[in-house]
Amino acid sequence: MADDFRAILITKDDEGNQEVKDTRIAESDLMEGDVTVSVEATTVNYKDGLAITGKSPVVRRFPMVPGIDFAGTVEKSDHPDWKPGDKVILNGWGTGETHLGAYAEKSRIKGDWLVSLPDGLTTKDAMAIGTAGYTAMLSVLGLEDSGCKPADGPVVVTGATGGVGSVAVSILAKLGYEVIAVTGSPEERGAYLKGLGASTIIDRNELSEKGKPLGKERWAAGIDAVGSHTLANVLAQTRHGGTVTCCGLAQGFDLPTTVMPFILRGITLKGIDSVMAPRQLRERAWSRLATDLDKSKLESLTTEIGFDDLIPMARKIIENGIQGRVVATF
Ligand code: NDP
Repeated sequence: MADDFRAILITKDDEGNQEVKDTRIAESDLMEGDVTVSVEATTVNYKDGLAITGKSPVVRRFPMVPGIDFAGTVEKSDHPDWKPGDKVILNGWGTGETHLGAYAEKSRIKGDWLVSLPDGLTTKDAMAIGTAGYTAMLSVLGLEDSGCKPADGPVVVTGATGGVGSVAVSILAKLGYEVIAVTGSPEERGAYLKGLGASTIIDRNELSEKGKPLGKERWAAGIDAVGSHTLANVLAQTRHGGTVTCCGLAQGFDLPTTVMPFILRGITLKGIDSVMAPRQLRERAWSRLATDLDKSKLESLTTEIGFDDLIPMARKIIENGIQGRVVATF
């Protein structure tokens, strides 16, 4: 076909067996939308790993092109805000889950889902940041909006060597916060985290078991990507009046806490949802990413891959995890 292009496609047979193919599809296969984008860069998120391995029911329509985020150039548009040539970013809104996603050379989506690529970032930078980095910035904004300032004291970041954690550590350090990084690999990855700007490294085992309802006040605020006992312990050890953001479930989706941190220390737990965040908040986060994330730090935490590597890398993120961020350029 003249207008076909490369895409990864997840299909399911009548017995429910999932197959993942590196194939070609046509523009007519794309779903409804008022903007067609030539995809230039994407990334591999944990959710993309779940979709490709079929480990969790992330995909809710078959066939599906996985990939929950991309950056690229508008090719065609019937949306008043976008014209051919505009550089855009897409995160979430069900792409790669209910709407054909980023692991294809073209994507047709709703113009309302897009944000402009901010000045100072390339499409590759935007996907080196990706949904993980944008979620890290939403978490930092969550702390700032609650009044948190560097002078208040240290901020703890859990899941620190992961995508969200690595970017959160880098942004907080650039903004002048003292950062306490929590990781499962303090020996192997402590130097990496210090390079991103963390001043103290804590072994995640310290926080991963059931703890006391209230503990010693160790940090002024927290960014949690891990959930479960870790988040409960982070809350129990946050100083009076502090805020903790919660975006992930790397340890578990349970939250075995008590009301004590809330009623005796006035702690605020702020939920972070990147998928359905309103456009104004997305634009704010992306414009802050262009100014408040050190480009050299971003490079140091990013691995570059190509289209051929998307499927193996999606499997790797589920099997072994990956350090920092991965950017795929087409
Ligand atoms: P990564 O897999 O890159 O990082 C997660 C990190 O968590 C790992 O690198 C590891 O860090 C740590 N970790 C893994 N398993 C455990 C465990 N059992 N106990 C404690 N820590 C653990 O994922 P991302 O950074 O991309 O995403 C982090 C979380 O945030 C995920 O759950 C993801 O689904 C979620 N997320 C949510 C979004 C939202 O909109 N709410 C958007 C994006 C992500 P280390 O080795 O340093 O301990």
